[in-house]
Amino acid sequence: MFNPFVGYNQEKIQSINRSLVLKLLCKEGVCSRAQLAKLSQLKQATITNMMNDFINCGLVKEVGFLTGDRGRRSIGVSINNEDFGVLAVRIARKNYSVGIFDLSGNSVIVNRRSIPPQQAPANTIEKIIRDGNRLIAQCEKRRIIAVGVALPGPYSTKTGRIEIMTGVLGWNKIPVKELFEEHFRLPVFIEQDANAAALAQYWNSSENLQNQMLVYIAIGQGVGAGIINNGEILRGTEGIAGEIGHTCVNFNGPPCACGNRGCLENYCSSIAFSTMVNEALKPKEPLSFSDIVLLMKSGNETVKEEFLKTCDILSIGVVNIINSFNPSIVVLGDEMSHIAPKLMLTRITENVKEHLLPEIYKGTKISLSLTGRDSMVHGAAIVAIAEIFANTGRYFPPV
Ligand SMILES: [Zn+2]
Repeated sequence: MFNPFVGYNQEKIQSINRSLVLKLLCKEGVCSRAQLAKLSQLKQATITNMMNDFINCGLVKEVGFLTGDRGRRSIGVSINNEDFGVLAVRIARKNYSVGIFDLSGNSVIVNRRSIPPQQAPANTIEKIIRDGNRLIAQCEKRRIIAVGVALPGPYSTKTGRIEIMTGVLGWNKIPVKELFEEHFRLPVFIEQDANAAALAQYWNSSENLQNQMLVYIAIGQGVGAGIINNGEILRGTEGIAGEIGHTCVNFNGPPCACGNRGCLENYCSSIAFSTMVNEALKPKEPLSFSDIVLLMKSGNETVKEEFLKTCDILSIGVVNIINSFNPSIVVLGDEMSHIAPKLMLTRITENVKEHLLPEIYKGTKISLSLTGRDSMVHGAAIVAIAEIFANTGRYFPPV
């Protein structure tokens, strides 16, 4: 967060502290002012002033009494989760999700729809805008403040475009941010999907992750990683850091649209897995990913074998990312991890143990995503909420 080559004036420090306290409140749910002072290591007078501002503008509310140490009673405060919200959009290759979330990141309503195979990206964008506006109208009592969007990478924060979406043409020509801003008439914040999910995972973790590095590996219709260092997304120069899906696992492998060969994504995404299962089973009609999930759950040995092969190749990517970044936590998420979570976790953990220095392995925890089925749409909401918390003066002007 702090760049040692940049100066920070008082206003900036104040907004960092305000954002920290709101994030803590989000995580804790209900808290006393004294607890917030302890957690944030800020003076209680600072917390009192902040809470006065937040309560005046409606962002925080008092919620009755809490009983603390030695039976002492104090007033509880929480984020106002009733009156405000954000619109969250997740776009994948074969489906999209649109939802409304409260300012603590809890889902109010989420709709998920498939994208027909030949549908042009411009039509998908139109449908998302229609669905989003319908949801905003449905939640008329809730003021929607901003829009968070999770997109498949590589997404360039410099150009504001998806650089490539393997297997789907045309997305690199779509100015997603401008279109959403024009049609929703709200500020729009875009993040690469794995970064968004990583941020949500970091915010929701029950562990104290201060000074720690978390990597979220999204194994879905593409493969990508979001890296959180000290609470901040690690972006790289163009904003595409963590594009593990385009790291090489076979230098003699088939060419990829990114210019590399034998990219991880082309072996372990849910699309690659579906192709491998279809090649192995040779069914009369091609099996969809959901057909394959059902076969896996019914105990089909061939599907299980292909799934384990996929996990083995994915393990190479996990080892590479651990050796590159030395994270303390690696989280596996998205649709491939939902097929057989425990089996995937066990297989990858065993492989990683075998291929890493014991000291590095001991210091790395590998786990499964916390945020449930669609952690990306939840991540999109957190991206918007993080922006609101970082700029409360803009979204909640003093009254
Ligand atoms: Zn590639």
